[in-house]
Amino acid sequence: MSKAVDIEDTVTLRTYCHGCKQDLNVMVSRAIIDNAKSYPISHAHLHGNPAHILILYVDSQYHIRGTELSETVTVERSRKVTPLNAMILLRIPPRYKRTAMAMLKLHQANAREVATITGKKPKVESYYLGSIFRLGYLERTRIKNFYQYSLPGLVG
Ligand SMILES: [Zn+2]
Repeated sequence: MSKAVDIEDTVTLRTYCHGCKQDLNVMVSRAIIDNAKSYPISHAHLHGNPAHILILYVDSQYHIRGTELSETVTVERSRKVTPLNAMILLRIPPRYKRTAMAMLKLHQANAREVATITGKKPKVESYYLGSIFRLGYLERTRIKNFYQYSLPGLVG
C-alpha cells in the first residue's frame, strides 16, 4: 500500500482506493514532498467516473501514512472573464474599488501584495479579490495556500 517507485523527479505512489475499489498509481512531484514544511503532506488525487478524490498523506520518505476518500468534488472554473478596466471600475461595488484599482496597478498579485497598497488587512483583500473574481473581472491561480490573481489575458 505504501511502496514508492522513483522515476526521475516524480514518485509513483501505489495505493488502493476504497471508492472505486482499485489499485492506483499516483504520481507526485518529488520536489513537493522534499520541500514540504511539515509531514505528512496531503496530496489529492482526482480520478474515476463519477469523479472522486483520494487524499494521500505522504511522509518525507515517500511512504503513504494514510488515505482519505472524498466522495464529492467541485471544480471551480472562472466563467467568461471580462478584463478589469477603467469602465468596470465605475460599476464595481464601491467597497471593492480600492482593491480593483490596486489590481489595475499591479496586474498580478496576491492578497498580501494588494493589502500593502490599500492599507487593508490581507484577509480583507483576500475576500474582496475573491468577490471580484466571482464577478468575472479577474483570473486566479492557486499557488500552495494562497491565490494569485491577475488581470485576464495576462496568463497563457
Ligand atoms: Zn477511486
